[in-house]
Amino acid sequence: MKNAEQQLLDELAELQLELEAVRRRKPWRCPECKKTTQIRLLDLRVVEFYVPPEFSAGGDYWTEGENPEYNVLCPKCDQCIRLYHSKFSVFSEEWLETDQGKRDILRQKTWEITNQYRSYFKSKEFIQRK
Ligand SMILES: [Zn+2]
Repeated sequence: MKNAEQQLLDELAELQLELEAVRRRKPWRCPECKKTTQIRLLDLRVVEFYVPPEFSAGGDYWTEGENPEYNVLCPKCDQCIRLYHSKFSVFSEEWLETDQGKRDILRQKTWEITNQYRSYFKSKEFIQRK
């Protein structure tokens, strides 16, 4: 017979697994073809940028930065989708109503989902770009 504490710990561990499974099934919407694919089926590429030694006291290094660029190959349309973080506060309301504005808003939403759920993708690799 388990004690109450162990019983709850076992239930928590089970719930944690269930939560991760739900997160892996989160739909990722392609900003190009608008079709969705579960995150667990997608490969994620995180872009790293070079920081030369003159900009750093500790020598040169590679970093993904605060708001990384992600590349995802959409299996529905076969396009490599480049996702950047955009700050829409700098754009006017009128511009955001244009077709380009709407596309950029969708791209930003996809970036946010990608960033929030990045650990639930099928695979993750870092690519370096100078
Ligand atoms: Zn697509």
